Amino acid sequence: MLIKQFSRRYFARKVSFMSRRFRSSEELSSKHYDIVVAGGGMVGTTLACTLGKNPKLDDKKILLLESSKESQWKLPEDYSNRVSALNPANVELLCDIGAWQHIAGARCGPVKRMQVWDAMSDAAITFDNDNLDKPVAYIVENDLLLDAVRREIPDSLEVVYQSKIQSCRPPEEDQDCVTVCLESGARYTCDLLLGCDGANSLVRRAMGFHHISHNYNHMGVVATLKLPEDFDNVVAWQRHLPNSGFLALLPLTQCLSSMVWSTNAEEAKRLVKLPEDQFVDAINDALWKVYPKSGLVNQAMQTFDNLIRFCNLPSSSVTQCPPKILGCDVNSRAMFPLGLGHATNYVGKGVALVGDAAHRIHPLAGQGVNLGLGDVICLNNVLGEAAYNGSKLGALSYLKEYETERQRHNVPMMLVVHGLFQLYSTEFTPLVLLRSVGLQAVHALAPLKKLLISQASGLRYWQT
Ligand SMILES: Cc1cc2nc3c(=O)[nH]c(=O)nc-3n(C[C@H](O)[C@H](O)[C@H](O)COP(=O)(O)OP(=O)(O)OC[C@H]3O[C@@H](n4cnc5c(N)ncnc54)[C@H](O)[C@@H]3O)c2cc1C
Repeated sequence: MLIKQFSRRYFARKVSFMSRRFRSSEELSSKHYDIVVAGGGMVGTTLACTLGKNPKLDDKKILLLESSKESQWKLPEDYSNRVSALNPANVELLCDIGAWQHIAGARCGPVKRMQVWDAMSDAAITFDNDNLDKPVAYIVENDLLLDAVRREIPDSLEVVYQSKIQSCRPPEEDQDCVTVCLESGARYTCDLLLGCDGANSLVRRAMGFHHISHNYNHMGVVATLKLPEDFDNVVAWQRHLPNSGFLALLPLTQCLSSMVWSTNAEEAKRLVKLPEDQFVDAINDALWKVYPKSGLVNQAMQTFDNLIRFCNLPSSSVTQCPPKILGCDVNSRAMFPLGLGHATNYVGKGVALVGDAAHRIHPLAGQGVNLGLGDVICLNNVLGEAAYNGSKLGALSYLKEYETERQRHNVPMMLVVHGLFQLYSTEFTPLVLLRSVGLQAVHALAPLKKLLISQASGLRYWQT
């Protein structure tokens, strides 16, 4: 067994050494890497760090290129308005690469329960662990996550900041190397280029990937909100509002929550400009206002509830009242455009797309960066295997494994989220009825609810 492993590794190193030796004159005039990671956002940096720490890739030269400046980040007193709800699988990933200790040692908000409810009916659903003992997610500031991962980047990994990629070229037919050119004039070649350069990915465009996109004409208004001190702030709240809006509150501390309010562009602009007291009133209104409800929907829900009880299934969720918002942190208000995007393929010869470069999703299920970090876990395994078996890192056979596994996960998630956005963008009674009874059904059918949770948590099985 040991001999087999040794000979595999020896062969792998030999192939990698040989493929490094024979380069064209153009490649020789530029610096060559086994892997170039394009884009050092949350996903690209975590990917580079994870690959750099993978023992199966320890003889590989890895370069991370990021267009922004290197900044000496220090945890500010005020919370950032850009946060992510990280699922348990990705917390595990960050633990594995040593980054989670920096986050846990600084600050993050555990979410012990999630409550989603509809303003147009009495439908509601909750997600939690049985005894509320383990968090279902953690709310982490994006800047803190990035800093925590950067601190764990191994010395072997090269990082170049202020290195905006201007163009890249796929391998010629008889060659294996991808060429990457920077605005500064520097040029690199690599066996594998990993495009982590976000929703407007240059790598995706330059490499000719087919991409579909949709603009929701919605903005996500974000802010850090003040809550009463005596409130046990461990619940993530999400209320679906008439006309396709939704408002989510994500717990940061005992008395602070981060808000994302998805609404049409005009309303978003109005909300961002409101004086603070009126802005807070608008949020409380969105959380508490009682809207007229259809008698037909109420009656159908009651009938369905009776049926559920008759079948001895769990009936309506026990819901809690959301907190009253007291104020909003100065300068924490901002808005971001929301859209959907998906590359038909995630891989080509010598190139793979990762994170928002491959898929962009509406934040109503808090899945954007979670899908990207799920890509990281998968790609790290696939590339480790390829190297261990002596295969080229840019070989399509291995990269296709990554594409298949991730599209099987990401596409259904994107369809569900897009479908929910559409289903909640109407006050048309039959559709309000459909979504309300649908929510009751998901709550009643425990295996279906568990399946949804395990998809969102990134774990194969829901851990209780
Ligand atoms: C309002 C809002 C709320 C959200 N909430 C959540 C949430 O709760 N949970 C969640 O999972 N997701 C959430 N998301 C989504 C999440 O923020 C994104 O999915 C995530 O930021 C994508 O990360 P990324 O690293 O793939 O891309 P990006 O963050 O876009 O990073 C791309 C990086 O590439 C660099 N770059 C770009 N072009 C070049 C180039 N030519 N050369 C070199 N470098 C380049 C950029 O400087 C950047 O650093 C939310 C999004 C919004 C808008």
